[in-house]
Amino acid sequence: MTIVKDKVGVVSCSGEDLPEGTISRIATRLVLEKLRPHDTVTICLPLFLAGSEDERAFARVFPTIAVDGCDKRCAEVGTKEYSGKPVAVIVVSEIMKKYPHLKTKSRDNLSAEEKKLAIKVAEEIAAKVDEILGRKK
Ligand code: SF4
Repeated sequence: MTIVKDKVGVVSCSGEDLPEGTISRIATRLVLEKLRPHDTVTICLPLFLAGSEDERAFARVFPTIAVDGCDKRCAEVGTKEYSGKPVAVIVVSEIMKKYPHLKTKSRDNLSAEEKKLAIKVAEEIAAKVDEILGRKK
């Protein structure tokens, strides 16, 4: 199997129950679409867990960052269990401790504060992508 070294796989948890899960998905999309579109790829975590072999090869082919909403770390656990250990894990609830003035309330329409938090999380993911690829931005 070929190991792809110039791209990083970013796997977000699919949390619907907590604002942190929504933030992990939005932050991941920001990285994929805006911050590092040429350096990142993703998979659908539910499909991955449902058993597609193509999806499960993912973390064996790409170095992978799991992005989790909370300490249950569903993306990390699922990726490790079914494909390969993520190279790095970003946990939104941990990052939030650095920004106590930014509060989360909604799971649907993110407030201005939640959007700011999503950007902070996205920046941390992007920095980790750069570190994994050995690039300085
Ligand atoms: S990591 Fe937390 S927010 Fe994400 S799916 Fe699991 S329980 Fe939900």
